[in-house]
Parts: sequence; structure tokens; C-alpha cells
Amino acid sequence: LVLPGHSTRRIVVALYNYNAREETDVSFVKGDRMEVLDDTESDWWRVVHLKTRQEGLIPWNFVAEDRSVNSEEYVPYICWFFENVSRKEADKLLLANENPRGTFLVRPSEHNPNGFSLSVKDWEESRGYHVKHYKIKPLDNGGYYIATNQTFPSLPALVMAYSKNALGLCHVLSSPCPKPQPQVWDLGPELRDKWEINRNEIQLLRKLGHGNFGEVYYGKWRNNIEVAVKTLREGTMSTQAFLQEAAIMKKFRHSRLVALYAVCSKEEPIYIVQEYMSKGSLLDFLRTGDGQFLQFEDLIYIAAQVASGMEYLELKQLIHRDLAARNVLIGENNVAKICDFGLARVIADDEYCPKQGSRFPVKWTAPEAIVYGKFSIKSDVWSYGILLMELFTYGQVPYPGMHSREVIEQIERGYRMPKPTAHHLPDDIYSLMLKCWDAIPDKRPTFEFLNHYFQNFTITSEVPYREVQD
Ligand code: AMP
Repeated sequence: LVLPGHSTRRIVVALYNYNAREETDVSFVKGDRMEVLDDTESDWWRVVHLKTRQEGLIPWNFVAEDRSVNSEEYVPYICWFFENVSRKEADKLLLANENPRGTFLVRPSEHNPNGFSLSVKDWEESRGYHVKHYKIKPLDNGGYYIATNQTFPSLPALVMAYSKNALGLCHVLSSPCPKPQPQVWDLGPELRDKWEINRNEIQLLRKLGHGNFGEVYYGKWRNNIEVAVKTLREGTMSTQAFLQEAAIMKKFRHSRLVALYAVCSKEEPIYIVQEYMSKGSLLDFLRTGDGQFLQFEDLIYIAAQVASGMEYLELKQLIHRDLAARNVLIGENNVAKICDFGLARVIADDEYCPKQGSRFPVKWTAPEAIVYGKFSIKSDVWSYGILLMELFTYGQVPYPGMHSREVIEQIERGYRMPKPTAHHLPDDIYSLMLKCWDAIPDKRPTFEFLNHYFQNFTITSEVPYREVQD
């Protein structure tokens, strides 16, 4: 028997604060409870707020089902459980300055489909802050353990026990790792299918730089949401072609691709409104920004993120055509996202188009693309190899001292950029670059492989997993 208004009610609890952007959406703060009225739309759910009684739309990824934390069944909704986080990302999240020693998270194991990993921030005199990882193994009859002498009926029970007593862990579990706020893909619920927005709602506040297509500004939408606005120089591309491309681009969503929010295309100059990335382009970041001080493992993390975004484009069969450090943007905590995917194709500019103009990125482009205009995901892999070299040399210009023409000629004869002498680059990674620069496109690795390679690249001195001490 299902009692109306009782068992059928679905309650969600807010994991983050959210400020309404339009009249149709509902504000809430972390911990507020709401009843779901309609969840058929993919991004915006209709709810009624249980305290304010306001009815409206909320971004679904800011809330979780409100269920008891003591039951194993509901693990995915618990605050310390990070469902889609790799070991590298766990390190990154835990090492944020504000997290004290003992900050922790639990994530699915990358190697054991039924197991989990516990990652804990620790401190030692000799190493400073670092993260230790422990394997949580499943028991045959249900339940989990880290050390065989301490078994638990559920993950919450395990976490609770290690929160009271270290029991041989490096440190007692102190507080769950704060979760990064999820991405919102639209400016607001009314704009989910509306690609064109009103130009008056955009304030351009500060010039960020100069791109291939025109000026780029930091700005706000409705005085509220931070955005980056690309303005397109008149005549850079046909509006028609651009809008077609933009509509496709808006459908591409991945955590490693810069989100495209909207456009203003009714008048010139056209605006492209994007997610704002606070640290700017990877190239400037490496040369003159905080990126100058990155450690080797941070470079690996960036290489992995770019490969992950490109793996998504590979899967979706979209070719980037202009992958380079200048087209990767950096946000807080060394988050890297690819931008301008798909744009290079619609630029109506002889300089930029695959005919040898001065702005054509010869040093990044595969020979078959330069000579025959044969762009493919494999020519993107070539560019990725060049990007890796930019990354590991902290933003050096590729083929230093060589002109574009010379590069084309030498590459055709089999010349490849040598291993840098002034920067640390393991032989393994250099030979991977050479594979990206194979003259035969099909012999170059896939982005799936490259992503896997960098995600699993462990610094040899690192201990893969810890055992608890007796
Ligand atoms: P681009 O047209 O992509 O070459 O951009 C030119 C410059 O503007 C870049 O080098 C960045 O410094 C900056 N920029 C572009 N897009 C963004 C963004 N979404 N967030 C922050 N800065 C950006």
C-alpha cells in the first residue's frame, strides 16, 4: 500500500548553496530540504522548498537524495564519498590549503571493481603535507576492512570508527574533504535551450587578452554570474556558420572542456559567453604566472586533464584543429580545460585557415594537415605531443630558433624536436611524444591511451598504497 503524499514523496537535501538567477528558480543553502515535483528535465528539477515553500527550478547536481547515512545502500549520497574522483584528483582536492591534517575522502578503487580507497591528508616533518591512500577491501559476506583485524558491516561504519580512533592509520579521520561546487551548464533555467541572450545583460568589466578572433573580456551576466566574453572581430567568420558551430559546441559537455553558455549574435561584434577560468591560458600561466612554480607531478596532472578532454572529443568525433597550450585554460587548483574546440573550422580568415598564413599554427600542426589539409583526431594527437613539450619546458616556443618553413621541411625529412636538456623530462614521456609525432597518423596513440597513461603515471618514489600499522 502506498499512502498518497507519504512514501511517494521524494526529498532532496542541498549539498551546496545556490542563489536564484531568474524568477523561475529557487535559492537554497547547504542542508535545506526540498521535495521533488518533476525530474524529467535533465538539468533543472522542479521542487518545492520545504522551509520557504517556494516552488521552482533547481540545478539537480547541487542536491542529493535525503537518506540515512547509516545505511550502506545509500553510500553514493554521503558527503565524504567521491564517486568520480581518480587518485590524482583526490590528491589535488585534499591538498587544498584550507584542509587540515586528517581530511579524507572515500572513492571507488580504480583497480578493484568491488573495492574502495580511503585517501587521507597527512603531514610529516620530512615531507610536509601529502596524501596517503589505503585500500578498502570487500568481505565475501558483505562489509569492508582495511586491516584484517578490524572489519565493518558498511563503509559508514568504517569511516565512523576511524574518525574516533586512528587504529593504525596515519591520522584519525578529521573532516570530509569539501566537494568542489558542480558545474552549471547554462546561465539559468530559462536559458537552457535559449542560446541567444540579450547583450544588455552582459557587462564587460576587464580586458583579459587578445585572441585569434578578437578581444576577450572578464565580465558578469546580470551583475551576478562571472563569465568570459570573446568578442569576434567583424568579418572573422560568417554568422551563419558560426551559429551552426556554436549550437554543436553547446552540446559538448565535459569537465575538461570550457563550458559555452551563450552568444549575442544579433549585432556585431558577436559575443561568445563562456565559463570564466581565473588563471588564464596555460601558456601564460607557465611562462609568467603561478605555473612557473609547478612541480613535475602538477605537470602530469595537467597533461592528464587535457588528454581526458581530448578523449571525450575523440569519442564524439569532433576534431579540435588548434590544440596548443594557448588554447587550454587554467582555473583554481590547477584545473585545466580545453577551449575553442570546433571554432578553428569556421574562421573565415586566410591567415588562420589551413593555407600558410602567418597565424596558421604550423609548429603545432601535423604534416598531413599542413600539406593536404587532412585534419583528423590523429592530427590533434600530433598537436597534443607539441603541447606536452610546451608543458614540460614551461612554455617554451616549440622548435626554438626555427622558422615555420624550416620546420615543415625538416619534419618531412624525419626531423623531430629533441629531448630538452634544460628541463626534467623522463625518457618514457619523451618517447610518447615521438609516438604522437609518428609520420603515419594511424600509428599515433589514441587519446584514450594518452589519458590512461597520464592518469596512472605514478612518481616512482610514491608508495602506491599504505598498510595500517599494528
Ligand atoms: P583566445 O581567444 O582563446 O586566444 O583568448 C585570449 C586570451 O584571453 C587567453 O590567452 C586568455 O588569457 C584569455 N581567455 C580566453 N578565454 C578565457 C576564459 N574562458 N576565461 C579566462 N580567460 C580567458
